[in-house]
Amino acid sequence: MKNINSKRVFKRNGTEPDSDGDYVLYWMQINRRFQYNYALEYAVGWANKLDKPLLIYEGLSCDYPWASDRFHHFLMEGMKENLSYAEEENVNYYSYLEDKPGAGDGLLYELAENACAVISDEFPVYIIREHNEKVAPKLETPYITVDSNGIIPLGLTEKAPYNAYFFRKIMQRNFVECFTNSPKKDPLADLENLSKVKLGDEFLSKYPPADKKLENQESFIGSLPINHDVSKIALEGTRQSALGKLGQFIQYGLSKYDENRNDPDENAASGLSPWLHFGKISEYEIVDAVLDHQPKGWDLDNITFNKGSTGGFFNGDPNVDSFLDEVITWREVGFHFAHHEPDYDQYETLPDWALESLEEHKDDPREYIYELEEFAQSKTHDEIWNAAQTQLREEGVMQNYLRMLWGKKVLEWTPNPETALAYLIELNNRYAIDGRDPNSYSGIFWIFGRFDRAWQERPIYGKVRYMTSDSTRRKLKLKEYLDKYGNQKTLDM
Ligand SMILES: Cc1cc2nc3c(=O)[nH]c(=O)nc-3n(C[C@H](O)[C@H](O)[C@H](O)COP(=O)(O)OP(=O)(O)OC[C@H]3O[C@@H](n4cnc5c(N)ncnc54)[C@H](O)[C@@H]3O)c2cc1C
Repeated sequence: MKNINSKRVFKRNGTEPDSDGDYVLYWMQINRRFQYNYALEYAVGWANKLDKPLLIYEGLSCDYPWASDRFHHFLMEGMKENLSYAEEENVNYYSYLEDKPGAGDGLLYELAENACAVISDEFPVYIIREHNEKVAPKLETPYITVDSNGIIPLGLTEKAPYNAYFFRKIMQRNFVECFTNSPKKDPLADLENLSKVKLGDEFLSKYPPADKKLENQESFIGSLPINHDVSKIALEGTRQSALGKLGQFIQYGLSKYDENRNDPDENAASGLSPWLHFGKISEYEIVDAVLDHQPKGWDLDNITFNKGSTGGFFNGDPNVDSFLDEVITWREVGFHFAHHEPDYDQYETLPDWALESLEEHKDDPREYIYELEEFAQSKTHDEIWNAAQTQLREEGVMQNYLRMLWGKKVLEWTPNPETALAYLIELNNRYAIDGRDPNSYSGIFWIFGRFDRAWQERPIYGKVRYMTSDSTRRKLKLKEYLDKYGNQKTLDM
């Protein structure tokens, strides 16, 4: 990859691919799609250069952190869709589902033995970050990860951005160049060597393909040693659903996004974060589709560098400006932060002013203190908090403004900020279908001051921004929301 996209490529064990091998392997870890995927495009490029076929491998273990029916269902629906796409398009695609912990250990290494190169997804958090760090030195085969997460390549920033304003300036300077070096819609269409890759019988009997398990999803998931209390949700983990959601948002939500995104009763937000997290849809195609809805006559020449301020950058519909600030700046600041900060999930990486102030207020008396499972089961004294947690626990999602209030109250109702942080990571990543993402850590750490500034000092919060349920009730339209999720209701699925 030449141009700005070379900053997406991370050669993790320093070796260059050569033709010693049967295929080029693309290990689809997080960006689980065949379209608009720079990593897949890069793998196709090497396959063509070496005149080799491409093998795509997608797997799912059963002992990943927070493994549950919820994540398994969502992921397996996506894998099923990928399998039928690969069959229709004659793509060498092999998928594997682990049925007991450890059964799939060694699989990737065996596939890599016959590969000219292993290309995978760059992703700065969770086990994918760990995999990438662990696998690279163990392989003799070149191991290259490619960033297909957002518009601004991770290799473009030099250090962890400390706030959105700092990152927005970088984004504004580079947006047009990055956006116009877009990922290809259908990278597989360029693949030249279409030979079939045949995996050996011994390999296939040790690691049987996922096909049958994908057919019997319910019974397969039921048999796994994962958390069955975190149940399947109504959202489908397919690309088809992601595209449907995007279409719906553009038709009904976008035109009122700026004014109404925070109101739970309005449903003006896109709801796209679950599919963004699992890479079923690319940020690029969302931005592209939304820019298509700028007023008539608008084009990229209307964009003006705005010194990192919000608004006045895209210079079209303010709803588009507002949405793109979330999906580009706020989404990507977390990716770039974690990319440069390996301890992204550690309390000590909060800004100094927040650490000092929270420390000073550590022993302030708390009116309410709850245990983790009391929070989990919506057993606090606060109607709005309980409703938000009920929605998260039962439906796997929570609206952004309530998510901020939800986090702030956990800081207030726990014995100290470190406990609050541990509880929030657990609750978010156990229940949220978009959890375990760089944005999970952005959002949770924002509660404690990351990417924010100091505010007026108060008990418990110190100089960290505080929020109240009363002002939330005054500001937001919540009636329907509370009717639906209030009073600790158990929801019908
Ligand atoms: C305590 C807390 C925890 C959070 N945990 C997560 C999480 O686990 N996963 C997650 O994706 N987001 C998380 N967020 C950020 C934000 O709440 C969600 O991204 C947003 O609510 C997703 O809904 P949507 O797709 O309808 O967003 P929309 O408003 O439609 O925005 C479109 C996209 O922009 C991005 N975005 C929007 N708001 C933010 C934001 N404040 N910060 C970062 N990116 C944003 C998301 O990718 C989102 O899908 C958290 C925020 C807080 C305060």
